[in-house]
Amino acid sequence: MNKKTIRIAGDTWGLRRCPYCGSEDIIGHGVQHNGSHPKRKKCKTCGRTFNLKKGTIFYRKKMSRETILTIVYLFLTRYPISNMPPLVHVTERSIRNLLEEVITRFKKYEALIVAPSDYIPKIIEMDEIYIKIQGYRAFYGWLAYDAENKYLIDFVTGKRDDDTLEKVFKKLKKYKGKTELVLIDAYKGYEKFIEKYLTDGGKKPLTGVINKSQYTKTEGFVTYALFGQSKQSVEDRMASLGLGRKITTALIECLNSQIRDLCNCMRRRSKRIPRLLSWGEKAISGFKFMHNFLKAHLTLSEKSSKNWITVPVTPCMNAGICNHQISLIEILNFRF
Ligand SMILES: [Zn+2]
Repeated sequence: MNKKTIRIAGDTWGLRRCPYCGSEDIIGHGVQHNGSHPKRKKCKTCGRTFNLKKGTIFYRKKMSRETILTIVYLFLTRYPISNMPPLVHVTERSIRNLLEEVITRFKKYEALIVAPSDYIPKIIEMDEIYIKIQGYRAFYGWLAYDAENKYLIDFVTGKRDDDTLEKVFKKLKKYKGKTELVLIDAYKGYEKFIEKYLTDGGKKPLTGVINKSQYTKTEGFVTYALFGQSKQSVEDRMASLGLGRKITTALIECLNSQIRDLCNCMRRRSKRIPRLLSWGEKAISGFKFMHNFLKAHLTLSEKSSKNWITVPVTPCMNAGICNHQISLIEILNFRF
């Protein structure tokens, strides 16, 4: 892993402020009983006392700060959860509880960051993911991906049906008439939703049906185009927008491995489908936050001649949604 792919340390200015009134005028207060006892501070502005860790992930945890950071880092770099206990001396149950809390934290943080109104994905690629349990596809997710900025716009989980798919499109309707190119697979439901949610007046977005599993040199990815448009025009637009031939295949593979790992414990406990769905949803949320905010994208970042990241750029930075690469400590220390 590149040293700058995931930033661990970062700005923690928020911790030098009072969690109640935001004042920076705080002083040490009270007695520390022993080294590990949390130190209390007092705010000189509002007079309240507080634990510095309050609101952060480290508040009231038995695990050390280093252990928590290690578990989160290993998880984000796709180290299997079931292999962690002997390394970090924590039970798998506790690791899962911690990661569940981390993902909730990601979601809350994401809700605070709103994409600017001028953010428009020029390309929207739709994808589906699933996991199998005992041979049948028990879990589905639909994704909308901005292939230019490598940004995961949104997703929904549920069944592989039009009702679930429509929920993703409802989230995309703010881009109506503005997105230039839509890439989909052969699922029949897409066409009517592209007309309903992404078409403004008579101007239908250029829409290509792509086949990722059967790429051939002669055929390429694009199988055909919708709305009477030509396959060639889709290919030309893809080339002019700088889209390579890999598209999201790699992203979907990473996502699948993360979902499988988070859902593995559920599979062992046989048919608890509702729990499985909720873990699947968590897996995608966690992946989405990591992909968009935490991880420098190799093709977006500046690199040295040896392909080391010199200036890290995340998909959110490229899309103009967040101005810096969020570090692990920044998100774990953030006070809610
Ligand atoms: Zn205060």
